[in-house]
Amino acid sequence: MQAQKVYDFHTHAYQAPVAKIIMRHLEVGKRLETAREFFHLHPDHKAPTIEHLIAVSQANGIDRTNLLLVGVKPGMLRELNEWGLKQREAHDNLSVLGAVHPNINEEALNNEIKWLRDHNFPGVKIQSVHQRMEALSQEAKSLYKKLADAGLFVLMDTGNYLKPGEDGYKYLTRPAMVAEITKEFPDLRIIAAHLGGFMGWDESENYLVDKDFDNLWLDTAFMGSIVKYYKSQGQDRAEQVKRILLRHRPDRLLFGTDIPYNNPTIELAFIRTLLADFPDLLQQIMWQNAADLLGYN
Ligand SMILES: [Zn+2]
Repeated sequence: MQAQKVYDFHTHAYQAPVAKIIMRHLEVGKRLETAREFFHLHPDHKAPTIEHLIAVSQANGIDRTNLLLVGVKPGMLRELNEWGLKQREAHDNLSVLGAVHPNINEEALNNEIKWLRDHNFPGVKIQSVHQRMEALSQEAKSLYKKLADAGLFVLMDTGNYLKPGEDGYKYLTRPAMVAEITKEFPDLRIIAAHLGGFMGWDESENYLVDKDFDNLWLDTAFMGSIVKYYKSQGQDRAEQVKRILLRHRPDRLLFGTDIPYNNPTIELAFIRTLLADFPDLLQQIMWQNAADLLGYN
């Protein structure tokens, strides 16, 4: 079992100055330990940089890592994407998804998508809450169309983790919305993070799981820690996760950890235990599906 290869499809790292600023914000009014714990930092690292991502992946026996760039500032997309390209070239075991933002002028968006395609980025990451993008807006739909035309896939952050009235609620991409986008853009390959929705698995089961969408993948990012959280609230969700993984198309599931926001050791142990009786499925989720999607074998 331990010899099985692992492709971590869902991770984050930040340019060193950005990582330092994030840490400083978290440390304001708190102890340093709180920020370190929030990011599950490897003992040798002070901030969630690329060096941290590589070190913590290696320490956990992860063979290849897919880094997601999130373009929060529209004006800094190119700088971020160029940094991502540099990281991909500098690290043998790294693939990178590019950053886009719907709220830039059309020419700039077209240029960015062309640049990403010209530099062999396989896809992009969208974080609608942080990017202040409504998932079913005209701007978003125009972006989906451009991505589909360019042959780039999109990994979307999805979930039900905010309540009405909370900051960012209207920008949340909920599982039912992912189903709409999946149907409206059959040529766009979509990866819905967190089994279709962070804290949104009931809705995900209703709208996304095993619904015969050829263009929809689910990643497992954070699921072990979410189950742990539910358990602390008196709910057992492990069976639901197992049901989702066994019901959904086996070639449309991808393993992810969400380093540095999550502890990869928990995710690796959780999925290996949960699917101990299904070694073929485990191999597909942990390695093969990601390798197929990213053209790496
Ligand atoms: Zn993430």
